[in-house]
Amino acid sequence: MSRITLTGVSRSFGQVQVLHDIDLDIRDGELVVFVGPSGCGKSTLLRLIAGLDRPTKGIIAINDEDVTRVAAADRGLAMVFQSYALYPHMSVRQNLAFGLENARMPRAEIDQRIAEAARMLEIAPYLDRRPGQLSGGQRQRVAIGRAIVRNPTAFLLDEPLSNLDAELRISTRAELAALHERLSATMIYVTHDQTEAMTLADRIVVLRAGRIEQVGTPLELYNRPANLFVAGFIGAPR
Ligand code: ADP
Ligand code: MG
Repeated sequence: MSRITLTGVSRSFGQVQVLHDIDLDIRDGELVVFVGPSGCGKSTLLRLIAGLDRPTKGIIAINDEDVTRVAAADRGLAMVFQSYALYPHMSVRQNLAFGLENARMPRAEIDQRIAEAARMLEIAPYLDRRPGQLSGGQRQRVAIGRAIVRNPTAFLLDEPLSNLDAELRISTRAELAALHERLSATMIYVTHDQTEAMTLADRIVVLRAGRIEQVGTPLELYNRPANLFVAGFIGAPR
């Protein structure tokens, strides 16, 4: 399980404060979407939660433990980036196995996890191809597969669909929603796309210039936006 708590989290780069005093409590198994315009601090916040960066002030805890005190391998988090970041010289199978081999997982278990993820994401036919021989949508599914095989308790996804064309974005979005149901893992999903936020989220966190404007379910935000910015940013629920 993964409950993620942010308390007074700020991040500055030099003189520039990018995140201001963020408080947020993400429940185990919840799908939370961070939404806001480009440059508002979504990726910075996600990287802090992943433990890839440290807050200037404040604490991020996963199951009540400060992330910066937990070894990366023990955090139970897997991150999926907008650029797929696959190894181009390795086959899909090798890409999926790489992290598990480094963790010295037994071969039989690695093979089993890869087979399972491949079935779930329908990438079994491509396991022996290289990323360069795949379409954008297939590559993104491999990137998601690489997160799944690690069996994380929380997925952190940073604009995972933004490189896909509109049609693929909609089908992959539906797959991600189904995956969330099936794995009952906590998911934090970053996007600047209102439709994605409204469709996927249990709760939406609206960010603006490094501050939380409002947190709520899609319906709450739609029916009772806290201000004009939220109202303008949130589309109709579907
Ligand atoms: P978003 O993901 O919402 O588009 P980011 O979190 O990437 O926004 O960036 C928020 C702000 O922080 C931007 O103004 C960006 O230029 C700045 N920023 C992010 N990372 C760094 C860094 N390593 N050094 C300096 N400024 C940064
Ligand atoms: Mg970003």
